[in-house]
Amino acid sequence: MDFRFTAEQEAFRAEVRGFLDETLTPAFWEYQRARRHPGWSPEFSRAAAARGWLGIAWPKQYGGQERGIIEQMIYMEEMAYAGAPQEHHRRAVQQVGPSIMRFGTEQQKAEYLPAITAADISFAMGLSEPNAGSDLAGVQTQAVRDGDDYVLNGHKCFTSGAHFSDYLWTVARTDPDAPKHRGISIIIVPLRAPGVDVRPLIDLQGLHHFNEVLMRDVRVPVANRVGEEHRGWYVNAATMDFERSGIARIAGLRRLLDRCAAAVREAPPDARRRQARQRLAELAVAVEVSRLLSYRVAWLQDGGRAPNYEVSIQKILATETIQRLHQFIVNFHGLPGLRVLGDAGPAAGDDEDSGSAGGWGPGYVNAVRATIGQGASEIQRNVIATRGLGLPRG
Ligand SMILES: Cc1cc2nc3c(=O)[nH]c(=O)nc-3n(C[C@H](O)[C@H](O)[C@H](O)COP(=O)(O)OP(=O)(O)OC[C@H]3O[C@@H](n4cnc5c(N)ncnc54)[C@H](O)[C@@H]3O)c2cc1C
Repeated sequence: MDFRFTAEQEAFRAEVRGFLDETLTPAFWEYQRARRHPGWSPEFSRAAAARGWLGIAWPKQYGGQERGIIEQMIYMEEMAYAGAPQEHHRRAVQQVGPSIMRFGTEQQKAEYLPAITAADISFAMGLSEPNAGSDLAGVQTQAVRDGDDYVLNGHKCFTSGAHFSDYLWTVARTDPDAPKHRGISIIIVPLRAPGVDVRPLIDLQGLHHFNEVLMRDVRVPVANRVGEEHRGWYVNAATMDFERSGIARIAGLRRLLDRCAAAVREAPPDARRRQARQRLAELAVAVEVSRLLSYRVAWLQDGGRAPNYEVSIQKILATETIQRLHQFIVNFHGLPGLRVLGDAGPAAGDDEDSGSAGGWGPGYVNAVRATIGQGASEIQRNVIATRGLGLPRG
């Protein structure tokens, strides 16, 4: 593996940084803070879209630039390090678009892909339900065929950003009699369709990031199904496989490490600071290893290979390091620091990958979710044990 970037890739990184410096001004952040969702900015998404950056690795016919996965990774790394608000386009670009490209009809490609790269539409992911999280095959949302329509009834939960999204990427059961992993289909449900009720689910910080989405006799055309009927489990597995490098998470982690280092640097030169130096250096090792693991995943993908347990190793190390860094800085400042520094962080919003929603107090609380979203640590360990080490499942 070659860790160096080419001159063109470095030039592209400089171009993205220049754009971020020009765009993420103090006035911009002031405006974002006044918004109830600081991680969400359609204006910012459109500014990035105008440069063709939302589909860097996508075909030109869909508004992409046909560059490589490494360029895409550089872009995501810079965006996340700057804490750029990406909630408006992130799920559509990273998961929905690539899935439509692989499994969608020509009509779906024409309808959704250019709209995604232009940041004209946004998606929420409707996977989890009260009785289906880690065990997603347990979904109970029903989609029943009625002529040229499906009629959906069900209850999704933890649906990030559904309150400002246009569509729900819905995992639904289309054959209730089939074994659990079969009989599932992926259906695009407009979130403003009659019968859809989006309700806030307030998180640990008291913020509205998640939602419950209730569907009662929601009628959508069969043409909204992505991929074969009853084969949605495999479509969804691929959806979750796109962009697996976790690079945005790592960039958030590096930003957090840099902020912690700045705080220690400014502290009085006493025993407490000496102790903190040792601990922070130890955590810096974990951050760097996470970064290299993440490059390795992107490198595997760039070469057309499908990373697997490698992603789980990276996710566990990165997310547990996010929590350790937050514990470190809270211990370093003590209880008053939680309160006083509550507004001291970057303006980063509710991007679940950023690992920090601004300030030590909120960031500390927010870090809890890092080891749950996108597959809990226990599930990642199961993957490493079975697929990485070849251990038995039982
Ligand atoms: C920040 C964040 C954003 C999210 N965004 C979305 C979203 O946009 N859309 C969406 O659909 N969902 C979303 N989720 C939900 C997320 O996918 C689920 O929380 C996750 O899959 C875990 O499911 P659960 O909460 O039902 O917990 P459970 O699956 O009930 O797990 C509870 C505990 O049991 C453990 N456990 C479960 N099964 C096993 C096993 N086989 N072996 C060992 N341990 C096990 C888990 O690791 C966990 O510790 C989000 C979650 C978070 C934290």
